[in-house]
Amino acid sequence: MKTYKATAIDLECIMPSNAVFFPYVASVTCDVCGKTYNVDEDIFEFQEIICLDFYGGYDSVFGDMSHCTLDICQHCLKSKLGKWIKQKQY
Ligand SMILES: [Zn+2]
Repeated sequence: MKTYKATAIDLECIMPSNAVFFPYVASVTCDVCGKTYNVDEDIFEFQEIICLDFYGGYDSVFGDMSHCTLDICQHCLKSKLGKWIKQKQY
């Protein structure tokens, strides 16, 4: 689950008296462990969260046109799928 915030950017230099609000993801809760990661508290953990969002196609094991989402932190990803993840160091 994601929560959103909006930040205002003052564009007075090009549009006097106008501010534009841009939404951004402020926190994400891992669907596996339930821990919430806030972008303002720990950007490094936050940026490692993997968010899956897809629709099951015809004959999908999840159901035809089933909307599937998963937010998973790096710790749960490694513990659940780590042995199958291919890694290459750069
Ligand atoms: Zn987790």
